[in-house]
Amino acid sequence: MSEKFSPTLRIGDLSDFIAPSQACVVSLKGLKTTAPNTVKRDKHEVAIANKEQTDPVKISLKDCLACSGCITSAETVMLEKQSLDDFLSNIDKGKAIIVSLSPQSRASLAVYFGISPLQVFKKLTTFFKSLGVKAVFDTSSSRDLTLIETCNEFVNRYKQIQLSNNEKSNSALPMLSSACPGWICYAEKQLGSYILPFISSVKSPQQIIGATIKHHICQKMGLRPDEVYHVTVMPCYDKKLEAVRDDFVFEVEQEDANKNGLRIAEVDSVLTTGEVLDLIKFKAVDFETLDDSPLDKMLTNVSEEGYLYGVAGSSGGYADTVFRNAARMLYGREIEGPLAFKSLRNMDFREVTLEVDGKVVLKFALCYGFQNLQNIVRKVKIGKCDYHFVEVMACPSGCLNGGGQIKPKPQQSPKELLQSLETIYMENVLIKDPFENLLVKSLYDEWLEKPGSEKAKRHMHTEYHPMVKSVTAQLHNW
Ligand code: SF4
Ligand code: SF4
Repeated sequence: MSEKFSPTLRIGDLSDFIAPSQACVVSLKGLKTTAPNTVKRDKHEVAIANKEQTDPVKISLKDCLACSGCITSAETVMLEKQSLDDFLSNIDKGKAIIVSLSPQSRASLAVYFGISPLQVFKKLTTFFKSLGVKAVFDTSSSRDLTLIETCNEFVNRYKQIQLSNNEKSNSALPMLSSACPGWICYAEKQLGSYILPFISSVKSPQQIIGATIKHHICQKMGLRPDEVYHVTVMPCYDKKLEAVRDDFVFEVEQEDANKNGLRIAEVDSVLTTGEVLDLIKFKAVDFETLDDSPLDKMLTNVSEEGYLYGVAGSSGGYADTVFRNAARMLYGREIEGPLAFKSLRNMDFREVTLEVDGKVVLKFALCYGFQNLQNIVRKVKIGKCDYHFVEVMACPSGCLNGGGQIKPKPQQSPKELLQSLETIYMENVLIKDPFENLLVKSLYDEWLEKPGSEKAKRHMHTEYHPMVKSVTAQLHNW
């Protein structure tokens, strides 16, 4: 299990591990135990479940606090609700299944099968529809919504800080990106309340496509939200933990007013790229020879000519897009061509600046992987971080290197695989400003009104919650 999660979730492996499947803080809170052992050291007193005397630990992903207490144990976190079996059983139940595919998963399958990402998308559409899936969408489209809301939030924060003349303001800079659940989990669990105001309130592309499907698109398809079972295909396991957060569940009234409201998740299940490959193999499909199906255009970044489009940056292009937009909106500067990112310690820590009249007015960074992340959060904590925006990703090299991606083939090194993924990621993709995305424009016109509107805040933004330190973490600190 541990290799599958991002390094920030795995970092707890080092020594905060009591015993596989018996360390769960949730089990200590809720399950019946008999005569627990008690460990006393100084003033601390912590009950540790006795392996022989507890009921078996069985919790759902929703209960999991991602405290790292058991992430090294494959058995402990029950993946029942997020598995291929669950996906197939919901098809059998007659639900309207909608699949949303991430561009990183597309790239991983493209390298594996030796075909282009566009072909992967078309063949996966054929494959999923042969199983009974109703529509296959693309999270590049919701990523553009995420980017627009993030640009808007950044410009507002920056202006507020300028207006308040750098005195105490409700806005906090640097603004830290929010699309990576590995990072969010780490921030809530390990860093706590001091870091949370710096994190962008915009939901990740996975949750934004979930909200868009369940609150808007399903109506256009003539479906109720509870009739839709929405599955995403993602490059990491951390996305499964994200999908089950309470913040991403909403209630709808039932026809029978005496019944309690139905609780509906924006995303019902997350499959990793590797799990989709397992499904293709399980169904004994010759994937490369499948017919190409037309793409579902309702929520897909595909042009009339059949080209996919997106932004520069294989982890979502947050720093790139927000930087260009801020330069335009705040300083009237149009930046053509690639941004001049400068590597600092390594390729996973890069920065770019904009100077106006000899003064640095925008300073952005890309920060991937736990080691680099540590530097940023330390500086934020002591008030010495001079970046305005940081694109944070938990995995070294970003999302193409997520723990749910297809593993290297024999004789292929991880580095070679990553290079192939970086190259293929942009194949068939035209770079396009998210603000020019006609699909996204129509979503604002029909539904969200404008970036940062009340509706956009309700559906596209979220909150973070500091979590009480786990028992395992307390033990670690002794
Ligand atoms: S990660 Fe923590 S909360 Fe989640 S199942 Fe393991 S011990 Fe329990
Ligand atoms: S960097 Fe990307 S792949 Fe890795 S945990 Fe974050 S969202 Fe998942």
